[in-house]
Amino acid sequence: MSSHSADVGGAVEERRYAAVASGGAVTGPLMENAAAVGHSGDMASDNSMTAWQVERPGPMRTSPLVRVRIERPVPAPDEILVRVRACGVCRTDLHVTEGDLPPHRPRVVPGHEVVGEVVALGHEAGTEFSLGDRVGIAWLRTTCGVCKFCARGAENLCPDSRYTGWDEDGGYAEYATVPAAFAHRLPDGYTDSELAPMLCAGIIGYRSLVRAQLPPGGRLGIYGFGGSAHITAQVALAQGAEVHVMTRGEKARLLALGLGATSAQGATDRPPVPLDSAILFAPVGDLVLPALEALDRGGTLAIAGIHLSDIPPLDYKRHLFQEREVRSVSSNTRVDAKDFLAFIDGNRIEVTTPEYALADADRALTDLAEGSVSGAAVLLT
Ligand SMILES: [Zn+2]
Ligand SMILES: [Zn+2]
Repeated sequence: MSSHSADVGGAVEERRYAAVASGGAVTGPLMENAAAVGHSGDMASDNSMTAWQVERPGPMRTSPLVRVRIERPVPAPDEILVRVRACGVCRTDLHVTEGDLPPHRPRVVPGHEVVGEVVALGHEAGTEFSLGDRVGIAWLRTTCGVCKFCARGAENLCPDSRYTGWDEDGGYAEYATVPAAFAHRLPDGYTDSELAPMLCAGIIGYRSLVRAQLPPGGRLGIYGFGGSAHITAQVALAQGAEVHVMTRGEKARLLALGLGATSAQGATDRPPVPLDSAILFAPVGDLVLPALEALDRGGTLAIAGIHLSDIPPLDYKRHLFQEREVRSVSSNTRVDAKDFLAFIDGNRIEVTTPEYALADADRALTDLAEGSVSGAAVLLT
């Protein structure tokens, strides 16, 4: 789709939303107005932008997300302003939009896998970034910097941390801001679309792999095989791991084998060999039991998700004895992000990124909710 026709179509939709929101009827020559609004020159001069806001969190069928025109954000002194070129669609955006995560900011703009270009810098934003640089904005947005967790390098556990697309507006928009200290420099050799899912699915998957304590050359089990898992599997393979995938989808199993997994089987099936480590990506607590049972002595299971359905009772001997461990994963530190982005700079990672226009963000989230996205969906502005 050409970006121009997307702009025009989107502008029509915006006006309709604006009319509905104000209780008025949709009147007037929509196409003419839309063409005027949609022209990029006019956008630049009127300091407004298109964005999606969570108006009333709820199931996607209740249209919780509305498309609006709002003021372009102005960067605080320590922030940079980014013109969004791509924004990944993460399951956490769905949790924010549907209300599984409590709202932290009324009418928040979701999106925390932002790839864009620096177009303005606050006067205290430092010298790390310059106008025109390609940068990434991720989930972790600020931390206090002084608590005991921040002090010991565990800023992902900071009780005062704030998150992009939850506490502050994110990337389902044409522009977004971020504190310069929390923006990420991005490697060359990848498109904007390819980099977007790296900024959450990739980084969190990488931290999950670290939390799973996989020994060198060890056997890793991966439970669930969506956006994050298909990136993490490639990282593990590049590090010399033997990978076994447990997932219900036939297509996902074929993808796993194609990427180099040694085996792929059903979600609760026993892998052919005992595992040194496992990562649970599927948000399904029932799978904790078969995953723990599949671990070798001393093995570790890391649970990657921000949400997990209830875990059934464990049998000590079957699931935990012989020093098997189960651990959770909370967000990521900037060091994790740096390490991961450096890793993919040196090791080519393939990502499947079905693309949607920004105007279709609600459709992308609906597709994700219905499980019809294969790979990691990306919105393009
Ligand atoms: Zn802190
Ligand atoms: Zn995410």
